[in-house]
Amino acid sequence: MGSGQVTDSSAPFDFRGKHVTVAGLGVSGVPAAKVLHGLGARVTVVNDGDDERARTQAAELETLGVTVRLGDGATLPEGTELIVTAPGWKPDKPLFTAAHEAGVPVWGDVELAWRLRDRDGRKAAPWLAVTGTNGKTTTVQMLASILRAAGLRTAAVGNIGVSLLDAVTGDEEYDVLAVELSSYQLHWAPSPRAHSAAVLNLAPDHLDWHGSMEAYAADKGRIYEGNRVACVYNVADKATEDLVRAADVEEGCRAVGFTLGSPAPSQLGVVEGLLVDRAFVEDRHRNAQELAEVSDVNPPAPHNIANALAAAALARSFGVSAAAVRDGLRAFTPDAHRIAHVADVDGVAYVDDSKATNTHATEASLAAYESIVWIAGGLAKGATFDELVAGAGKRLRGAVLIGADRALIREALARHAPEVPVVDLDRTDTGAMLQAVQEAQRLARPGDTVLLAPACASMDMFTNYNKRGDAFAQAVRELGA
Ligand code: ADP
Repeated sequence: MGSGQVTDSSAPFDFRGKHVTVAGLGVSGVPAAKVLHGLGARVTVVNDGDDERARTQAAELETLGVTVRLGDGATLPEGTELIVTAPGWKPDKPLFTAAHEAGVPVWGDVELAWRLRDRDGRKAAPWLAVTGTNGKTTTVQMLASILRAAGLRTAAVGNIGVSLLDAVTGDEEYDVLAVELSSYQLHWAPSPRAHSAAVLNLAPDHLDWHGSMEAYAADKGRIYEGNRVACVYNVADKATEDLVRAADVEEGCRAVGFTLGSPAPSQLGVVEGLLVDRAFVEDRHRNAQELAEVSDVNPPAPHNIANALAAAALARSFGVSAAAVRDGLRAFTPDAHRIAHVADVDGVAYVDDSKATNTHATEASLAAYESIVWIAGGLAKGATFDELVAGAGKRLRGAVLIGADRALIREALARHAPEVPVVDLDRTDTGAMLQAVQEAQRLARPGDTVLLAPACASMDMFTNYNKRGDAFAQAVRELGA
C-alpha cells in the first residue's frame, strides 16, 4: 500500500453551457440528465433502445429541454465535451471509442455524484464504501443500521435504495453515507476517495463485461484509491489484500483485515462466539474490544458473520462505539430471499436463498448447513459447478434440479458426489417449483434443511430472483397446509 499525492479531481466543475451527453436512459440516466440540466448543461441523452418505456422517459425529459436520441447509442453527438454513462454500458462500445479518439472524458453516475457532492457550500458527507462479488447489499445495510444506532444521519446508497446522485444532490443532509459500489460503477469512477472502503471477496463474475479477471479485480480495487482511514480486506481472500497493497492511499491510512478466526492485531475476528475488534483499540497488540455476539448477526451463517465484521470495521474506522455495532447488528433484518427462513415442516427447515445467483454465493450458502436437500438450477451464465459440488457433496442429502442448465449441475454431481440422490425436473412451467419442493420434502429427513440456492440466474423460469423465491415460499406454505 503506497501513499502519495492522490490527484484531487474533486474541484467544482462548472457545467453551465457545457455539452454533456448522457449515455443510457434508465435508473441512473434520467436523474443524471435532470441534475445536469438543472446545473445549466446542454444535455443530449442517447439510448440504444426505442421502446415504449424509453419513449415515455424521453418525452418527460424533452419537456425540460433535454435532447433525446432513441435507437442510436453508438454515435457521439457533435460538440460533446463530457459523457456521463450508465454503469452497465460496456467499455468497448463504439461511443466510447469515439469519445476516446476525440479526447472526451467519460464519467459514470458515481463519478458525477462525487463531483457534485459538496456544492452549495454544504459539508459533503464522507463515504464508507463496499464492493465485492457477493454480500455488498447485506453489508451496506448492516453498516447503515450500525451508523444509525450510533445516532448518525446516514443512508444505504449506491447500487441499492436511494441513488447516490439523489443522496448527494437532494435536500436531506447526512453525516456519512454507506455506499454500495458495483464493479461497473467503479470502472467509470476514477476520482472518488472514500473515508474507508471494503472489498468483501473476489470471485470470477461479469468477466464478459470486464474482459478478464485482472481487469475485474483492478476495477474493484479502485475502491481503495485515496482512502483516508482504513482499507478493509478479507483475510481469507488473499486477492482482496493484494488490492490493498496495490492501492495508493492517504498517509496514515491502515490496512484492516476481517476473519472468521481469531484476529491478529489490526484485524476484526471471532473469539469464543464473540465478534472482536483488535484494530480500532488502544494498544492493539495487547487489547481487544468485544463488539457483539455471533448470535446478534442475522442470520448467523459464516459468510454473513464475515459481512458483519466488514460492516463493523468500516463503522469503527468512523469512530462508532462497540455498543452501536451491537445495537445496529441486532436491529438489522436481511432483505428478502437472502437465506430467509420460510418455515419448518415436519422437523425440516425450508430456507430461501434465491439471491444466490452464482456459484460463489451458493458455496457460502451451502456451507451454512449440515445436511441439505439442495434445490438448484436455472441459467448458468457460463459457470461450471465442479468445485462447488466437490466441496459441498458430503453435506447433501439430495438434490432437486430445475431450469434450463440443470444438466451441468447433474453432471457435476455425477462426477464428484455420485452417491447423492438427484431428482431432475424436466419442466419449466410455473408449477415446477411446487413439484421441486414436494420432491425435496420426500428426500429430506428431520433435522435437514431444504435450501433453495440455485447458483444460477432465474430468467429461464421466472421474471427475476424475487419471483423465484416467492414461488418457493408459496410451495412451502402449500406443503404445510
Ligand atoms: P450483492 O449485493 O453483492 O449481490 P447480497 O448481500 O445481495 O450481495 O447477497 C447476495 C447473495 O450472496 C446472498 O444470497 C448470499 O447467498 C450470498 N452472500 C452474501 N454474503 C456473502 C459473502 N460474504 N460471501 C459469499 N456469499 C455471500
